[in-house]
Amino acid sequence: MYLTEVYVTNASLNVNRPFTYYSKQEIEKFCRVKVMFHKALNQAIVSDCVYTEKTPEEIGKELGYKVEEIAEVIDESPVISQELFDLAFWLSRTTISPLISCLNAMLPKALKTSIGHNDPKTVRKIRKINGEHTFTVKQKEVYDQIIDGMNAADARKISVSIIRKLIDMGAIEEYREESVFENQLIESAAFKKLTDEQQEAYDRLISTDKTVSMLYGVTGSGKTEVYLHLARHYLSLDKDVLILVPEISLTPQMIERVKQRFSDVVFYHSELSDQERYEQYKRVKNREVRIVVGTRSSIFLPFHDLGLIIIDEEHDSSYKQDNIPCYHVKNVAFKRAMYHKGKVLLASATPSLESYTRALKGDYQLLELKNRINLSFPKIEVVDLDDEIRKHHSYIISKKLEEELSLCLHNHKQAIILLNRRGYSPIIKCMDCGGVLMCQDCDTPLNYHKNQNVLKCHQCGRVYNLPERCPNCGSKNLLFYGFGTMKVEEELHKLFPQARIQRMDRDSVSRKGAHEKILKCFEKHETDILIGTQMIAKGLDYPDVTLVGILNADAGLMRQDYNSTKVTFDLLMQASGRSGRAKSTGKVIIQAFNTEHYVIKAVLNQDYRYFYNIEMNYRNKTSYPPYAHIVEVILSDHMPERMQRSVKFLYERFEKLDMRVYKPYELGKLKKLYRYRILIMDKDLLEMLKKTQEIIDDYIRESNMSHVKIDVDPLYLE
Ligand code: ADP
Ligand code: ZN
Ligand code: ZN
Repeated sequence: MYLTEVYVTNASLNVNRPFTYYSKQEIEKFCRVKVMFHKALNQAIVSDCVYTEKTPEEIGKELGYKVEEIAEVIDESPVISQELFDLAFWLSRTTISPLISCLNAMLPKALKTSIGHNDPKTVRKIRKINGEHTFTVKQKEVYDQIIDGMNAADARKISVSIIRKLIDMGAIEEYREESVFENQLIESAAFKKLTDEQQEAYDRLISTDKTVSMLYGVTGSGKTEVYLHLARHYLSLDKDVLILVPEISLTPQMIERVKQRFSDVVFYHSELSDQERYEQYKRVKNREVRIVVGTRSSIFLPFHDLGLIIIDEEHDSSYKQDNIPCYHVKNVAFKRAMYHKGKVLLASATPSLESYTRALKGDYQLLELKNRINLSFPKIEVVDLDDEIRKHHSYIISKKLEEELSLCLHNHKQAIILLNRRGYSPIIKCMDCGGVLMCQDCDTPLNYHKNQNVLKCHQCGRVYNLPERCPNCGSKNLLFYGFGTMKVEEELHKLFPQARIQRMDRDSVSRKGAHEKILKCFEKHETDILIGTQMIAKGLDYPDVTLVGILNADAGLMRQDYNSTKVTFDLLMQASGRSGRAKSTGKVIIQAFNTEHYVIKAVLNQDYRYFYNIEMNYRNKTSYPPYAHIVEVILSDHMPERMQRSVKFLYERFEKLDMRVYKPYELGKLKKLYRYRILIMDKDLLEMLKKTQEIIDDYIRESNMSHVKIDVDPLYLE
């Protein structure tokens, strides 16, 4: 018999080890099986299977427990390669999360382990059966039209009754086959001739010995064109190419650009159905297609020979997964590039502080695109909102912005208005008791959504009816405070009744395809003004956009988070970069209260280095990343007493470490769960991981403790 080690589906850390079963046949490594685990049938992945002369009873005696038989083998061939299994193992150690959760993060749903199972979709096909058949004339006619492997549905279109007859007489048969992705062919467009700057970046990348290169290129400098040329080069060497883009940048425009150059591309992102993802996964696995454009999880696709991984907008926070396993795509990319002896290109107009520092130090090759393709930067102006209020002007759309909008519309150009807050009004305050209406499940103020006349919690999504009176004191004196994108939309309609206005935020794109529709409309210039949240700040490249207005530009700076200045800077730079990308020079109006802030100044001068120097100085003084690494331990529980016990247990152990350990901090309630955070910071990441793993191993041996999540190097603190 065979001794078989398996990893059982279970997200909790305390089963993060293989369990032993036996089977009569040999099972290939990395196939899924079903096993009895804690008295229930559960799926698992085989990690090892070795022959032994011993009986299950003898093994049981040695191990000290009864060894059970594998209940069922699910797959005929492995669901994952050795490379990816090892990668999952590494991921599990570096993110301190269960191996099975790493494996499942890597696989499409049809190949994940689960308790209920999702079988891939199959289609019915028809084929002929060899042998002597005697047909009537009609039957012969139909039989001759049948091609092996044709869809059963198509065959029936010839004649339902004769097909049925042919099946009955054994001349043809129906069978099932997993459906495969059918590719549409698109005419290909010519590659643009690279500018000298682009060409230099291209040449230097393909000739360097360094694994990682950083392309620091201002917005509109033609980074995408460089990616496409590089992709073509690596494809011609018979290598696979992966272009990673942030969640929201996979716009119809971006997809079209890539499709036009390469006849067959896989787009791998969250809008695909599970079935579509599975089909694309198989195409990569079977090497039917060599180039993939995708979001975070495409880093785990089963490439054969990965020559180049491009990470567009490498600073973007969507590259970090914020649930278990909390991995950053960059680290996985480095690991895979090392294995495949390929290269990684990190690209951004506002590189992450860490990547840029490494590039300056020479760990990465630094490539630069200093000029815009159209050689013209937008003119930027800052409007002081305190001034506007003093002058009794609107602080939603300032006088200056109103004038520019009206000029823009007059010239038949387009405008983008960014406000990083959706809804109508973010705070409803009682004027008598001063209370703010809050979500009952989260410690978060409720947002008013005027079109549905309801209050929504933007944390958990819970919807409330608008109360007539303050729930606290019964007063009717409720004030709507602050503004979101819906209110801006209303204001703009009032100011420019003739303009065609659309809004793009999480509320307006919740339906599948809505996102594409809004952007298509804007691309065809059927919309004059597009209002939106950070969704509209990235990637858009429309020649008619000559005006960008950024409302409450400094709102993000009020947050306490260590990274909020960088995030705000990135957003403002990206948004300004949408203006004046073609022939006409663009204009950007930034509205803020804190106009003297270095983030606003840096954006005004489009000066990344200015921002970088000040921010790094500040990070150095406070020993925050990139001068240190962070391990964030988050506990959540609906039982406050158990939480207290768990917090105490962990903190007592962490406190003893020779590292910076912050006192446990109570986070706001989220979805009815109480939450606590313990932060550890140190320069030595490996040591931190080792120590944290030891403490967590201790923790999970205790019974009845709170749920714990580890986030290594979080991009923002909970
Ligand atoms: P980025 O990603 O750096 O913001 P894009 O790649 O979107 O910039 O390029 C900006 C614009 O310039 C696009 O419309 C693109 O088609 C155009 N472009 C890029 N490279 C060239 C080139 N070599 N010749 C002509 N046009 C170019
Ligand atoms: Zn009140
Ligand atoms: Zn809530």
